[in-house]
Amino acid sequence: MQVMKAAVVKDFAAPLVVEDVALPTPGLGQALVKVRYSGVCHTDLHAAHGDWPVRPAPPFVPGHEGVGEVVAVGDEVTRIKVGDIVGNAWFWSACGECEFCETGRETLCPDQKNGGYSVDGSFGQYMLVDAAYAPVIPDGVDLAAAAPILCAGVTVYKGLKESEVKPGQWVLISGVGGLGHIAVQYARAMGMRVVTVDVSDEKSELARRHGAELAVNALTDPDPVATIQDVTDGGVHGGLVTAVNGAAFTQAVGALRRGGTLSLVGLPPEQFPLDIFSTVLFGLTVRGSIVGTRRDMAEALDFFARGLIEPTCTVRPLADVNDIFDDMLAGRIDGRVVMDMHT
Ligand code: NAD
Ligand code: ZN
Ligand code: ZN
Repeated sequence: MQVMKAAVVKDFAAPLVVEDVALPTPGLGQALVKVRYSGVCHTDLHAAHGDWPVRPAPPFVPGHEGVGEVVAVGDEVTRIKVGDIVGNAWFWSACGECEFCETGRETLCPDQKNGGYSVDGSFGQYMLVDAAYAPVIPDGVDLAAAAPILCAGVTVYKGLKESEVKPGQWVLISGVGGLGHIAVQYARAMGMRVVTVDVSDEKSELARRHGAELAVNALTDPDPVATIQDVTDGGVHGGLVTAVNGAAFTQAVGALRRGGTLSLVGLPPEQFPLDIFSTVLFGLTVRGSIVGTRRDMAEALDFFARGLIEPTCTVRPLADVNDIFDDMLAGRIDGRVVMDMHT
């Protein structure tokens, strides 16, 4: 039996175990990928802790920002071949024939599979992908920096489209972590004016470095909503909440301009109260946004390949996975951590 190293969730209450597991074999329509780098998304942490109502089944291998080389293909694979550089994603595959798949809303497919959740992901040295759904990485890009595009990038790009903010208008990015710092860059590339909220001066500095005009520290600003309403002359036209904290959602609704739209992307396990009176009288829209379709992914990768998006990343070994989760929970990560799967 051929083996590889992988970080395995055995129990929601315990750290991940880095151990030898069997190399998977590609089935019909699948490919085996030697993973070079994998980004670490906060969703992987939620998965490992069993934070959400629908839980994965341990033992499983998290990870949905994996990039690497195709080393074998199963039967009936024509879209990709051995040697191609591809990735996995949260949206790992779908049925292709339900009402959502047929109407350009494939990420709502009830029969979808999710990388690192219902299918083993990229926290292993090898992973399987569905050849019809695996994102193809553009030629000539830095592979470590490409990894965060596969979840953080596509998610914020789609979420910004869903916010309906137009070029020249204000957008709020709440949470300047892995997703949020990339959101600032997509928003700028899409012509938007950016204000951010996070809870430390380091995150504000990261936001400014990537082009935010105003970066609010919600812990030290006496009234973040009033500050944003004032600077944007009546509130932001739309927003994207990536913060892993319920209070940030309430605050983001408060920062909206009349008629504004908020895309909810962050997935803290708690709820938040939505004020009925202001939502109705100010004609606000609050909607969820989940990753992106294959077309959104190709567009998000194209922005990156053209040099418009430069994720701030730190490369660390797979063996550090539990320390990386600790740093993420403590808010100590600048941008994204990407694991080198073979050091
Ligand atoms: P991250 O840990 O890198 O970033 C989260 C950021 O939120 C941090 O910078 C943190 O300081 C900030 N934050 C915490 N409390 C805050 C507050 N009160 N106000 C403002 N900011 C605050 O996490 P990430 O990888 O960017 O993921 C963010 C969330 O998005 C997670 O819940 C993840 O599961 C979710 N997610 C959703 C989708 C989707 O498709 N909807 C896709 C990927 C990730
Ligand atoms: Zn479907
Ligand atoms: Zn993710």
